[in-house]
Amino acid sequence: MNKTQFNINKIIRENVKGLKPYSSARDEYVSDGSKMIFLDANENPYENGVNRYPDPQQRGLKTVLADQKGVSSQNILLGNGSDEVLDLLFRAFCEPKRDNIITLPPTYGMYKVLANINDVSEREVLLTKSFEPNVSEILEAIDDATKIIFLCSPNNPTGNSFLEENIIKILESFEGLVVIDEAYIDFSSEESWINKIDMYPNLIITQTLSKAYGMAGIRLGLCYASEEIISVLNKIKPPYNVNELTQKRALERVMDVATVKEEVTNILEQREKMIISLKDVSFIKEVYKTDANFVLVRVDNANKRYDQLLKEGIVIRNRTTQPLCENTLRLTVGTQIENEKLIKVLKQL
Ligand SMILES: *Cc1c(COP(=O)(O)O)cnc(C)c1O
Repeated sequence: MNKTQFNINKIIRENVKGLKPYSSARDEYVSDGSKMIFLDANENPYENGVNRYPDPQQRGLKTVLADQKGVSSQNILLGNGSDEVLDLLFRAFCEPKRDNIITLPPTYGMYKVLANINDVSEREVLLTKSFEPNVSEILEAIDDATKIIFLCSPNNPTGNSFLEENIIKILESFEGLVVIDEAYIDFSSEESWINKIDMYPNLIITQTLSKAYGMAGIRLGLCYASEEIISVLNKIKPPYNVNELTQKRALERVMDVATVKEEVTNILEQREKMIISLKDVSFIKEVYKTDANFVLVRVDNANKRYDQLLKEGIVIRNRTTQPLCENTLRLTVGTQIENEKLIKVLKQL
């Protein structure tokens, strides 16, 4: 969609359009740093580091992220993991029992779960054999009630990034929202789509601190889109959805660019070593190309190999029940010691 064709009022839910958000104490009075006496939010006044409500707009964190990503703070929404961000998209744009969304299996399972929770029907258009979006079938699956198409690139569990031309075709032909889930983008040789949000008013990017940033435990998901879309999501998000401890730890981590970069470089180095060794394992039939911190492999018998690894104390993900993924296992890249142990065990089986 180009800017003149896209009309957010055609896709936003009626109840959300007229909604007046809850105004919290920390929304009404924004500290400018001067010493004030805070008697507005019924907090306990004794300082312990977390006795005050967190900033509902996460201004400090957004300022740093905006600078790093080359967008404005108004283009960013933060959530309690990407899972919350994705849920907010359903609640803002999908009318229960009427609207539908499109997913492209095999892919991340949360899109379907969130559709079910929100009573929104999910249409599945399988990826092609080379794990690319089947653009013509996707376009055929769209109807007037289709609100969101979820593209996961690099895709979980296949590991590949989708071809740019396929993503562009979908972005340009669809009048609803296109979400590109970039949970693994920091491991990818492809560029993020963040710098294209000005070009495509229907484009939404989600990222997370759970993978490359090594902070799955603090739950921080990120969403980048036009100011128009972000302002709708801001209206419906819980006021204090990102807690103070998370904001603090996330800020420290995103400012420590060097450490994140070094860890990602090590993981990528380990990934390449792992791929070479996996190709030497007799029962591994195929090692798929990956742009993420995991490798999908096809084996002779996934259930059997999964159980054998468990007995050796190694937990991996069996993806054999996923469409197009018969007899596949998904292996996360660990530390050098962990990966060497995995390979040793695989070669002994
Ligand atoms: C791991 C993962 C996420 C991360 O979700 P969080 O809620 O941020 O931890 C999102 N999308 C995909 C495809 C993932 O694999």
